[in-house]
Amino acid sequence: MNTSNSIALFERANKSIPGGVNSPVRAFKSVGGTPLFITHAKGAYLYDADGNQYIDYINSWGPMILGHAYEPVVKAIQEKAALSTSFGAPTELEIEMAELIKSMAPNVDLIRMVNSGTEACMSAIRLARGYTGRNKFIKFEGCYHGHADSFLVKAGSGVATFNIQTVPGVTSGVSHDTLTCAFNDIQAVETLVQQNPGEIAAIIIEPVAGNMGCIPPQPGFLQALRSLCDKEGIVLIFDEVMTGFRLASGGAQQYLGVDADLVTYGKIIGAGMPVGAFGGKKEIMEHIAPLGNVYQAGTLSGNPLAMIAGYTLLQELKQSPAIYESIEKKSAYLHQGLEKVLKASGIPYIINRVGSMISVHFSEKPVNNFADAAAANNTLFNKYFHYMLSQGIYLPPSAFETWFISNAVSDADLDKTIAATESFLKQAV
Ligand SMILES: *Cc1c(COP(=O)(O)O)cnc(C)c1O
Repeated sequence: MNTSNSIALFERANKSIPGGVNSPVRAFKSVGGTPLFITHAKGAYLYDADGNQYIDYINSWGPMILGHAYEPVVKAIQEKAALSTSFGAPTELEIEMAELIKSMAPNVDLIRMVNSGTEACMSAIRLARGYTGRNKFIKFEGCYHGHADSFLVKAGSGVATFNIQTVPGVTSGVSHDTLTCAFNDIQAVETLVQQNPGEIAAIIIEPVAGNMGCIPPQPGFLQALRSLCDKEGIVLIFDEVMTGFRLASGGAQQYLGVDADLVTYGKIIGAGMPVGAFGGKKEIMEHIAPLGNVYQAGTLSGNPLAMIAGYTLLQELKQSPAIYESIEKKSAYLHQGLEKVLKASGIPYIINRVGSMISVHFSEKPVNNFADAAAANNTLFNKYFHYMLSQGIYLPPSAFETWFISNAVSDADLDKTIAATESFLKQAV
């Protein structure tokens, strides 16, 4: 495959952008090689600067659940843009967006729009601290909640991909208040709570982890967190930036049947525009300014283009439950196909999947937390990634990322992905 234009663009990018990219995992540094520069995308396919076509399993890290350049979304953005791109004053569309989200996630009483998942999580933690009057919070090793200072402690996604142990620039004062323990280990959470009596404001978790590959919660784990938080007056925050509107129209809360006190959204909520949101119980949300003293603001928050894009996509997801059935069917088909060829290869593997989030770990034992994911044969994953890319299949460039299945992908695309995996495995053994 000729990628000479991408290679030239990367060289040029490095002269004016740090590492040539505006977000680290894009650089392909951990898998090796140089990144592809994308010119456009439609449905299930990405096109690079050399005109190559790829089946996309990143889907902008989630938002393109119905495929790229989804016509109703594109049309809605075009119409809105003609009416000006920002006002810095309230609009009726923001009310409609909030009402729509509330109708999809019934335990959300109030919701505030922001511009990214990072902002949503950062604001939710500030709110939980302001509400409880406590300073510390618990997060799980390998979970990623954006790049705000207090989350860059044992974080997943790019931080894990680049094996960054401590992040220079995050002061010890800040990281002192971030407590961490292993995902799926309720005993460890209880111990942290006992060791810090009356000091823990919040527990924040990806209800299905997606930033260390896909890792499902073990049965009863989230329920146990829920009861612990109730007992100790701790705010339970579900980071649904990835799972929100993906696992079900009501997100992981609906899919897994556990309610959080606060929820954060991103990715799908903006249909590919820069959007995030945090919301939840009225009693807690009322502490946000201008109702309360916990300050939070944004010049472009609730931006009309971002709102109409997200609103159009969410409306579609809410109105057609068949979409989720269809994506589940496609995901299960891929899962079974990969399972078959991996089993036949004799190479140790674990496939983790929840709905349309799936990841392949070249691991001998179950992958239930970050240590398990890190112990897998990730060198083999990197080779797998490059082989698939050479076959026109774009997987996330790291074993610590989940793949996202869109509804645009066809059975033929899935068959091609399974067949390419089979030929990779044949030459890998
Ligand atoms: C992507 C992600 C974030 C950060 O969102 P940004 O929009 O990149 O700031 C936070 N939490 C989770 C679970 C994510 O997957």
